[in-house]
Amino acid sequence: MAILDYDETFQESIEKLKATGVRITPQRKAVLEYLIHTETHPTADEIFKALSHNHKNMSVATVYNNLKLFKDTGLVTELTYGDASSRFDFKTTPHYHVICKDCGKIMDFQYPALEEVEELASLLTGMDVDGHRLELYGRCHSCK
Ligand SMILES: [Zn+2]
Ligand SMILES: [Zn+2]
Repeated sequence: MAILDYDETFQESIEKLKATGVRITPQRKAVLEYLIHTETHPTADEIFKALSHNHKNMSVATVYNNLKLFKDTGLVTELTYGDASSRFDFKTTPHYHVICKDCGKIMDFQYPALEEVEELASLLTGMDVDGHRLELYGRCHSCK
């Protein structure tokens, strides 16, 4: 997220939401702002914990509703991990994740060359390939 202009990103996201006809509530703004500023790929619970001090009307349900809305609007990506709770990623440009096996920290990196894999896969199988998912695992700086 460091390369993005936070204010601009925030305004653009608000405009995008307004265009869908939703009301922009203070809670909605807060969840959005938090997602734009955090690089940790938080769970809904983490977002709630981070925001509930300053937003008395915030509930876990509010966080979930907003996350669903942002996802439907294309503002965030949901990373699902089987039975573990989902994590949310504001960055929607293509990138990959390295996940720490000990503490669960997720870090982003880019490797555009991998997009060729989609072309190759569709060439080899005849399927219309329109996405892929790749995760790498290891140990982060504080865990090794
Ligand atoms: Zn770690
Ligand atoms: Zn990410």
